[in-house]
Amino acid sequence: MGVTGVVRRTGLPRDKCGIPIAPASSVIHTRTPVPCRAVPTPIESITVFCSSSDRLAPAYRAAAEELGDCLSQEGLTLVYGAGSVGLMGVLARSTQRKGGRIIGVITQRLIDAEQLHTRCDETIVVDTMRERKLLMESRGDAIIVLPGGWGTIEEFFEITVRRLVGEHTKPIVMVNTAGYFDPMLAMIDHMIEEGFAKAAMRSLFLVCEKPAEAIEALLRGDGRMQPDDSMMPSGVAREA
Ligand code: AMP
Repeated sequence: MGVTGVVRRTGLPRDKCGIPIAPASSVIHTRTPVPCRAVPTPIESITVFCSSSDRLAPAYRAAAEELGDCLSQEGLTLVYGAGSVGLMGVLARSTQRKGGRIIGVITQRLIDAEQLHTRCDETIVVDTMRERKLLMESRGDAIIVLPGGWGTIEEFFEITVRRLVGEHTKPIVMVNTAGYFDPMLAMIDHMIEEGFAKAAMRSLFLVCEKPAEAIEALLRGDGRMQPDDSMMPSGVAREA
């Protein structure tokens, strides 16, 4: 499958989603969203969504640090929002400290706000946050969600909805550091109890306490189950 948008670099090797892989430290500009095809593969890269805040308790920073360590130890590439701030910055620095590889996907607007981690092995600059999310999704073989705020929670719900409707089949793991996500998990239970969601939707994502458990689960192949119609919201039938 090829890339449908304009990519201002040609002759590059392509990854398994058909997206050109730029040489280290180079920049690809894309203009239109890159379509993603879910490919059941061994896990080689992991997309991480997490906070951009620097005002967090040490436990959250420690979790980002631990995840970076695990990624580099396991030789897994980090795909993330290319930020230098908050848990994103902690995660990127910790992954690179022991030689891990990182791919950052960011909008020009965020670069202009000087929030780019300038040492990504590959930096992909896109126009909009929507393109960014699609590209982040397509470049990772699995998704990990660390604690975060507005942006992270939006990313979590979008990636789970896209899995629900069959637009990708990548495993998703939430790392519930210090019970941060408990109120959101309670809200999901409430949605199910009140009939706004089906009980099977709980299996759209895994929940772990520690980053190391999330990596172990993904490497074991947990969370690969295909969503089925029992998960679809009432009244929505998936095409065969
Ligand atoms: P939040 O949880 O509100 O801090 O937002 C973090 C998420 O939104 C990350 O996973 C990023 O993809 C995106 N994001 C928000 N702010 C930034 C930033 N300054 N630099 C890079 N990505 C950001």
